[in-house]
Amino acid sequence: MKYNEFEIISKFFKDRQKKDKNQIKGIGDDSALIKIPKNNLLAVSTDTLVEGTHFLKNIDPKDLAYKAVAVNLSDLAAMGARPKWITLSITMPKSDSIWLTSFSTSFFNILNKYKLKLIGGDTNSGPLSITLSIYGLTKGKRTLLRGNAKKGDLIYVTGKLGESAAGLSLLQKTTFLKNIKIYNYLIKKHLKPIPRISEGIALRNIANAAIDISDGLISDLGHILKNSKCGANIDLNKIPISKILIDNFKINEYLNWSLNSGEDYELCFTISKKNIKKLNIAIKNKIIKCTCIGYITTVENGFNLIKNKKKIIFTKSGFNHFI
Ligand code: ADP
Ligand code: MG
Repeated sequence: MKYNEFEIISKFFKDRQKKDKNQIKGIGDDSALIKIPKNNLLAVSTDTLVEGTHFLKNIDPKDLAYKAVAVNLSDLAAMGARPKWITLSITMPKSDSIWLTSFSTSFFNILNKYKLKLIGGDTNSGPLSITLSIYGLTKGKRTLLRGNAKKGDLIYVTGKLGESAAGLSLLQKTTFLKNIKIYNYLIKKHLKPIPRISEGIALRNIANAAIDISDGLISDLGHILKNSKCGANIDLNKIPISKILIDNFKINEYLNWSLNSGEDYELCFTISKKNIKKLNIAIKNKIIKCTCIGYITTVENGFNLIKNKKKIIFTKSGFNHFI
């Protein structure tokens, strides 16, 4: 079955959700109209995913829809923003009804899970690509920024690092694993990252700076350091790496996945020492799971990875010569 642009919009994307109270106009006019509540800031973020570059060819449309939204949500999580609205620009080679049904069902599932409303978009034909713009609300001063880390802050990461990259390596067959259960677990970690929305909102009152780990801890923490004009000492022994990776892969593989590869979409954040108590309460109440991996220093000190009190020299190509 072939549909034109307008049929695609009305059959798969329009009127699939109830409007929220701030939404004056959604899909169907020349633009959406949104009322921003008093004392809030609008957080806006856009991501494009292109076939072959950001996702593998022949990806299941369900997985594509989930991941595209999850990746966008993660950017709001890193700001401490509450997700509200989203637009979808989709370019696809043909109007395949089965593909669109599967894509849109999964798309609205994750939207509903995070109380996000689709308010507009664009539909075109061409090579498969998805652009999402996401809109969330933050409370002014309590927004988390990359540039707000202070000397002496403790550095934390949520969850565990490296499992998504392990899953991608398995999909790309650059690494191998016999155990099917663990194989499937790691693939899921790659395809279905969990955006740390509630953690980001909880950190509004606790953290100084935050970023989501999309490119790898070293690269993303590097953005915090650059924007905050600081350095950092990171203890390699404290990086949260799952037992599954340690038990099933070589050390140079899992260290590279955990430090240099991205797509875990965990949060890396810094807190001043006076907020340790508050953070521990959030940990105790199971609002956040996180590990302290080091502390912020002066910019002159640089960015150091330390293992057993010795500095480790790291390059993009690996750690095996140094450990
Ligand atoms: P225009 O020609 O003014 O750009 P379109 O015909 O592209 O308008 O879109 C008509 C309406 O449908 C607009 O409200 C637009 O935001 C919405 N829309 C288009 N594509 C999508 C999509 N993939 N998902 C959600 N809304 C869409
Ligand atoms: Mg248009």
